Amino acid sequence: MATPGGPRPGSIPPNYNPNSVSDNMKNLQINRPNQPPNPANAPRGPPPSLGQQPQSQSQPFSSPFSVPNRPGPPPPGVVPRGVVPPSSGPTPHGTLPPFMVANRPVGAGGPPGGNASLASRPMPPVPVPSTSGPGPFASTPSPTPPPVMPVGSGAMNNGPPMFGPPHGTPGGPQYPSSGVRPSAPTRPPPPPPQTMSSFLGGSFDNQPRGPPQVAPPTFSAPLRAGMQPSSGPPTFSSQAQPQGPPFGAQPWQMQSQQNVPPPSIPCSGQPPRMYGMSPPLANQQSMATISPATGPSGNAVSGPSKIDPNQIPRPVPSSSVLLHETRQGNQANPPPPATSEFIVRDTGNCSPRYMRSTINQIPCTAYLLNTSGMQLALLVQPLALPHPSEEPIQIVDFGEGGPVRCSRCKGYINPFMKFVDQGKRFICNFCGFTDETPREYQCNLGPDGRRRDADERPELCRGTVEFVATKEFLVREPMPAVFFFLIDVSMNALQTGAVAGACSAISRVVADLPEGPRTMVGIATFDSTIQFYNLKRAFQQPLMLIVPDIEDVYTPLQTDVIVQLSECRQHLDLLLESIPTMFQNNKTADSAFGAGVKAAFLAMKSTGGKLLVFQSVLPSVGIAALSGREAEGRTNIYVGDKEPHKLLQPVDKTMKTMAIEFAEYQVSVDVFITTQSYVDIASISVIPKMTGGQIYYYHPFSARSDPAKLYNDLRWNVTRPQGFEAVMRVRCSQGLQVQEYSGNFCKRIPTDVDLPAVDCDKSIMVSLKHDDKLQDGTECSFQCALLYTSVYGQRRIRVSTLSLPCTPTLSNLFRSADLDTQFSCFLKQAANEIPFTPLLAVRDRVTELCISILHSYRKYCATVSSSGQLILPEALKLLPLYTLALTKSIGLRSDGHVDDRSFWINYVTPLSVQLAIPLVYPRMISLHDLHTRETEGSVIPPPIPLSIEHVSDDGIYLLENGEDCLIYVGDSVDPDITQKLFGISSVGEIHSQFVLEQYDNPLSKKLNEVLNEIRSQRCNYLGLKLCKKGDPSGMSFFSYMVEDKSQNGLSYVEFLVHVHRQIQSKMT
Ligand SMILES: [Zn+2]
Repeated sequence: MATPGGPRPGSIPPNYNPNSVSDNMKNLQINRPNQPPNPANAPRGPPPSLGQQPQSQSQPFSSPFSVPNRPGPPPPGVVPRGVVPPSSGPTPHGTLPPFMVANRPVGAGGPPGGNASLASRPMPPVPVPSTSGPGPFASTPSPTPPPVMPVGSGAMNNGPPMFGPPHGTPGGPQYPSSGVRPSAPTRPPPPPPQTMSSFLGGSFDNQPRGPPQVAPPTFSAPLRAGMQPSSGPPTFSSQAQPQGPPFGAQPWQMQSQQNVPPPSIPCSGQPPRMYGMSPPLANQQSMATISPATGPSGNAVSGPSKIDPNQIPRPVPSSSVLLHETRQGNQANPPPPATSEFIVRDTGNCSPRYMRSTINQIPCTAYLLNTSGMQLALLVQPLALPHPSEEPIQIVDFGEGGPVRCSRCKGYINPFMKFVDQGKRFICNFCGFTDETPREYQCNLGPDGRRRDADERPELCRGTVEFVATKEFLVREPMPAVFFFLIDVSMNALQTGAVAGACSAISRVVADLPEGPRTMVGIATFDSTIQFYNLKRAFQQPLMLIVPDIEDVYTPLQTDVIVQLSECRQHLDLLLESIPTMFQNNKTADSAFGAGVKAAFLAMKSTGGKLLVFQSVLPSVGIAALSGREAEGRTNIYVGDKEPHKLLQPVDKTMKTMAIEFAEYQVSVDVFITTQSYVDIASISVIPKMTGGQIYYYHPFSARSDPAKLYNDLRWNVTRPQGFEAVMRVRCSQGLQVQEYSGNFCKRIPTDVDLPAVDCDKSIMVSLKHDDKLQDGTECSFQCALLYTSVYGQRRIRVSTLSLPCTPTLSNLFRSADLDTQFSCFLKQAANEIPFTPLLAVRDRVTELCISILHSYRKYCATVSSSGQLILPEALKLLPLYTLALTKSIGLRSDGHVDDRSFWINYVTPLSVQLAIPLVYPRMISLHDLHTRETEGSVIPPPIPLSIEHVSDDGIYLLENGEDCLIYVGDSVDPDITQKLFGISSVGEIHSQFVLEQYDNPLSKKLNEVLNEIRSQRCNYLGLKLCKKGDPSGMSFFSYMVEDKSQNGLSYVEFLVHVHRQIQSKMT
């Protein structure tokens, strides 16, 4: 049928590519010693034997419920180039837009043993330059620089962009008869994966939703995963309520003023928990089933001073995969915790991965919101990675007319627009305007008032869809995928091995770049001048083009320095091998970062694209030189409360001005800082922040242990789902408005954010404010629309809609509070304030925010006779712990290094919700007893509270926060264990630049397995740092023991007492 937006034909999975990048990801090898960067004479030797595979990879998955216990995508593993072609398997990576799929293992992990599937992969179709055969280039990297051709001023003119043949619409083959079509533009869609078909085939619906997805009753022995489909998966649903009145027997627990949980918030009707009261709960088990985050129950002691550290609230990770239907019975379901593993079924609201609110009921008035002390904000992550078992997002093509939108507010059609008048008109759920339904889109209404075709049209029954963008969304042809690499080759960068590390990483990552004529690359180096390279095939060797003027930068002809990847692969390989030797005797210490970036930008200006910069020293010459406050930055390594926080602000506006121009031309910049010293991240980071990029920080850079992480970070950067030239806007229903956006983007008009690049890891905080009253009983809608170009050149609009009930009742707000999202907002706001406010003031403010929320709850929602009780709302009972941890984080504690703190701020700004809590409250596990522990399905043992009392001198512990991974070794560890784990008998012998190997014993294998799993969950390679008792590395480990009293603050127990006293004083 030719109706635009008509029902989709058949059951073709529109866009599901389980194999693409995820295949690549399976080859995780964390134990492989780093190759010497850029080995001479061995461009890509035979791949080393593949080491271990994550255990879960080898398990067959026959149902959607037996998916691997990994919420994150596989980590970018160390994969020897040549082993994993980007286009292996029936669903080539190179053809499907990766942003549409769960780029993670989907279970069909191959036969037990794992490696067979790898061995059978074809070699990549990439010609690998031979080191010995005849060829246009020298067979060994030549220390002789390539021919140099100074660039004349006449070369300033950039040529036309080298577009490949236009790839379809944005989109490739047309499916005129259908509104919904596969996202694969040029090749047939992949066969439906098994997990998908069973998922869609009704097994989901047939599952009983009985048992609650609750945590096990005890902290010490959490239930372990192993969800059995036959026994009914736990669901995060209204029926997941514990049966019976678990609190009925303890009248002191029930707050008399607490309203009975309304049906609209079925999961949140938990009465407040009390701490500091005796006797202990009689019914511990029922208490413990309240929430996945519930600790041991009966937190009952008789006064604050007697708080038992073992009884206070601590996070208990959910031990099983939760199933979450976004709506049930026409009501929004509150999402599971962001830190848990869950599978979402989009039944009208978007997945919480794409958008979640700090409160899952919207206060009717600003007064109510203010009274609660909470803030109302959304965290949106429009391209977030789905779980492998989730249904893919549907693509909807309305043809030339484009998607149906409200003609007043331009909101996109969604399940909450109400059709009236026999379907001839519809009422916008944002502005309330009644609009004419386009004739070709009209449909009769059923007896329930819904359109009869609502269930067949994704845009009318799904919270997230992707619309094919029409011409009105195009100001030019979708841009090609341009990757430009810019490397600092100043003396220091050479001497520390940073140049070799960067060249090696780039060289290996080239094979992972998207295939096809649209992918273009360029490369340049710089010290006190800028060197471009002409990679055209016509030249026998890459031709060096020097730009000497670093004050008034120009650039060579764009068509000479940015070429199609397929045309320059050999040149590129050779060049990357030669660069470290070419510059090995470089005595230039100066680094013209600003000029290099500007020149690269000029080369990319006509196309836009990604600029990946490898910087090793403080930019010292040319435009935007930063040497001005070098001495201050170096000497003033500690920015305490009294020190000027101005060092955390950009030194001037130069970088900002450049960044705005870059953003305008769709150039996004990522900076990989491989340094030994202060580089003024506060100034440099302005460029990545405003262009949708990010900072990576390797300090102090180690040529021994850092190249593996550098490579993996770069690889994930270019292979993760992402889009270019994007614009995002969030709309909300009348009564609310967007107050502010916060994240990595450029903003030129108030309503939209410009994102030269956006990827699956980037999140944007959207704070909201009331401009009117909302009606009780109605719902309030939020819609995030992201217009972007995929790496394959499709122009798309991803639209996620979330509709939440409005409430006039304060207790409903507390019941439906979302801890993870609220804490993310705390974290981001604190990060935003640090450069402009003394640290002490930021810490106080964060603490005050926490206290005012708890005070409001205590005052208005809890009735307790004794004032000697600290009462925490169930949903927010961990807020004090996380707040305390935040005040002791690198960003807020007094003993931070300037650049460390700047990096922390930059890391936090676009951070996803699920990584916010681990950043301040990391996961700690013990390693010395890994082999003796029966973890029942979970690879990772249960976490240990972050207190020194849980760390013993004869133990080995791993602590990870999503970015770094510390391994702490006590000073009296059994030599047999260190021998097994590290291959040495004494801790003292371990190299300070630690590289983890895998040895042939169960303990070592288990450790590598655990690390693989963590990296997989975090989408991050997590560099390893070894910490020993008694030296500074040990101190850095102990700085994460946030529950202990330290120079950075109170102990957890003391903090609870402090909070309690503050609340008491506010009450009187
Ligand atoms: Zn409207």
